[in-house]
Formats: sequence, C-alpha cells, structure tokens
Amino acid sequence: MPRSRKKVNCERLCFSVKRIKVYMTWNAKLKFEAKELVSDNKAQKAPRVLIIGGGVVGMTSALQLLNKGYKVTVLAKEYASPVSSGKRITSEIAGALWEWPPALCGRHTNEKSLERAKVWGMDGYAKFMELAMNSKETGAFLRRSIFYFKDKGSAMMPNSLKKLGSLNTDTGVVDAYQHMAPMVDTVTYMQWLYKQCREKGCHFVHDEIHGLLRDQAEDLKKKYKAQLIFNCSGLNAKELAGDEDVYPLRGVILKVRNDGSLMPKLNHSMCISIIKEFDESDKEGQSFVFILPRGDDKLWLGGMVQPHQWDRDLTLDYPPIRRMFEKVKEFYPPLRNYGDDDVEEVLVGLRPARHGNVRLEWDHVCPSLLHNYGHGGLGVTFSWGCAIEASAMVDRVFKRPQIYLSKL
Ligand SMILES: Cc1cc2nc3c(=O)[nH]c(=O)nc-3n(C[C@H](O)[C@H](O)[C@H](O)COP(=O)(O)OP(=O)(O)OC[C@H]3O[C@@H](n4cnc5c(N)ncnc54)[C@H](O)[C@@H]3O)c2cc1C
Repeated sequence: MPRSRKKVNCERLCFSVKRIKVYMTWNAKLKFEAKELVSDNKAQKAPRVLIIGGGVVGMTSALQLLNKGYKVTVLAKEYASPVSSGKRITSEIAGALWEWPPALCGRHTNEKSLERAKVWGMDGYAKFMELAMNSKETGAFLRRSIFYFKDKGSAMMPNSLKKLGSLNTDTGVVDAYQHMAPMVDTVTYMQWLYKQCREKGCHFVHDEIHGLLRDQAEDLKKKYKAQLIFNCSGLNAKELAGDEDVYPLRGVILKVRNDGSLMPKLNHSMCISIIKEFDESDKEGQSFVFILPRGDDKLWLGGMVQPHQWDRDLTLDYPPIRRMFEKVKEFYPPLRNYGDDDVEEVLVGLRPARHGNVRLEWDHVCPSLLHNYGHGGLGVTFSWGCAIEASAMVDRVFKRPQIYLSKL
C-alpha cells in the first residue's frame, strides 16, 4: 500500500477510535444519568429539558413535553407579544395556514424528507382540528381554503380531499384543490401556548445565548438544572448550531380590512403556489399569492419569497412589494378597490429556511442536545408533528435508556 494511503487509513482509524471513545464515555455518563433519573422518577422528580427559543416551534415542544410530565425551562431573547405591535418574532408574522407539504414554499430536496414532512403535517392537522373546537381561546380555527397550482404534479393530496371542478385558466392555474384547513391567529395562539405552558409549571427566562450551543451545553444544563437541551432558535440556529445551511427566506404580508366596506367580506382562503424550485441567487425572489381572512375583519395578503435577504425594514414603496400587491389584485379582482391608504400594515418576516430541510435530530457531537429548527415557510404546520417526534426521542432516552443507547 502506498505510504500516503496508509497514513490516511491510519488517520481514519484514529478518528474512529476517538469517536468510539467519545461515545463510550458519553454512554457511560448517560447510563449513569438515566439510572439517576429512573430513581428520581420514583421519587416523583421529572427530568427537566431546557428549550432555547420561544417561537411556535419552541413553545409547542415545551407544551408537548409538559403534557408528558417533563419539567421545562424556555429561554429566549424575544417572546411573542400579547398586543399586535412592536417588533414581532417570525412566529407572529406567519400567515399561519396549515398547508399540505410541499405546499406554497415548503421546499423539499428529497422524497424521504417530503414523506417525513407529511407525517408532521398530518399530526398538526389532527391537533389543530382539536384546538379549533375552542377557537376563541386558542386562536385556531378551520376555514375553507383553495390551493391553486400552476403545474399539475404539485397538487398532491390525500384522496380524501376534494378536487375543484372549475378553474380560472387566465391566471395560468392548471389545477387546484380545496379543503377545510386549520389556521391560527398568531397573536391569540402564541399567548394561548404561553398560558398553557405557564399553567403547567414552565419556567421562562429572558436571555440571549451567543456562540455554539454544544460548547456551553454542560454549563447551561448545570445553570438550569436540565438533563437535555432543545435548540429551537429558528434562523439563529445558524450561529447556535454553527449550521451554514440555515438562511432567511424573506416574506411580506399586507394587512387590510375585511369588513365588507370595499368588497364583499371574504370568508375563505385562496393561495397560488408557484414554487417548485427557486433560484437562490435571484434577489428579487418569487412572489406567489395568498389571501387569508384573519380574525373577524382583516385580510392578510401575500406573499413573497426572497432568499438570503435579512433586512426587515421595508415599506410599500419597495418595488417587489408593490408588484406583489398588484399580483394579488390581478388574481382576485374585487381587491382592486384597495389602494395604498387601505394597507394598514406591512409585515416583513424571515422564514428560517435550511438546505436539507428541517433539522430534527440529536447533535452529532453533543448528545444531550436536540435540534429542532429550519422549518422555513411551514413552521406552524409542522410545529405539533415535530414536537411529538421530539418528545418521543426524549422518552426513548429517559424511559428506555438501554434500547436508546444500544442504537448508538
Ligand atoms: C410571511 C410569512 C408567512 C408565513 N406563513 C406561514 C404559513 O402560512 N404556515 C406555516 O406553517 N408557516 C408559515 N410561516 C413560517 C413560520 O412563521 C416559521 O416557520 C415559524 O414561525 C418558525 O418558528 P420558530 O419557532 O422556529 O422561529 P421563531 O419564531 O423565529 O422563534 C425563534 C425563537 O428563538 C429565540 N432565539 C433566537 N436566537 C436566540 C438566542 N441566541 N438566544 C436566545 N433565544 C434566541 C427567539 O427570540 C425566538 O423566541 C410564514 C413565515 C413568514 C415570514
């Protein structure tokens, strides 16, 4: 064997041995912790999980864990505000419509990821249906929603969902389906999540973490008396997980009234999906259409997808927003009665996108750290599905350590 190849093989071997050593040390440590926890459990002491992030992903994960009897601390630099003013986190700006993946802007790079997304989507559908029984308190409700497609293959739905018969082909739409879709009023819903968590004993901390989470995991666990950490930091996972695949997909929503004064009141949602693949170097991005009734008397109009754009300080004068407004009016002509003065607010948000899609897995280096981020334009849709899967991963660690450990 040539010398250089020998050297490479030797390095690989050393690397593997090093990894095995790390796993063995960790296995031993976790086995010890697990034993402690089992006896703790007997003494009615539930394990504690520290969640970084107070958006829809972090708060739903927190509630799911609390419902299962875990103790939870949520740490975030910003939380959703009970009043719809001030600087909002992404989870408040969401159109918050349940969408069947790949949906409007849920990009999926492979079939496996799409299949996983569908499971999360269906878990979310079931949960939001349940929450919609008590809309006033939860902010979740069901609304007839029509999804239009410009390419036939995209309208993939479970057979139970009804296909539309008539289509307006002038707009380039070739297919569509409609179904009762869950939606949430994000201001009410985020407060409901917060209240539920608080009532179940969640501890909330206002703080900001800097640097890689895996480097400070031990200190954080010690400080907050937690055994595991969830990283639900959305777009900031770029820094906290050192994940270069995370990037923003800027989106815009125009808030107008829906009180019947400028056009007949609209009670159903309409969306045109155009996104299959988009060009990431294109700063202008793509605009698609969504028209979402919100609350009793508002409409949220969108949308836009601009990759790698961080600036949230935009107004109606920004040409792509103006073009988006025109496009929405062209698609639904009764909206032509709305002028610039009728736009009550321009909401700009950064969807936490990730090449390779959502990251829901244990950290490869720090095994007590679980990542749950990169939900792009489907964070509300996936929030419950991901929380359920994440909590099952935690159950495996705490309830059946032998099985979990043997899989490493
Ligand atoms: C215009 C627009 C329309 C959308 N429409 C829909 C839709 O119709 N349906 C749908 O399902 N989704 C939609 N989305 C996507 C959805 O909003 C996101 O996927 C979702 O909000 C992501 O939630 P998150 O909890 O991961 O992130 P965030 O809401 O961004 O929350 C991240 C949390 O982490 C905290 N954090 C971050 N960094 C740190 C740090 N260093 N230290 C401490 N705390 C930190 C933040 O303070 C915050 O509390 C839309 C998004 C936009 C912008």
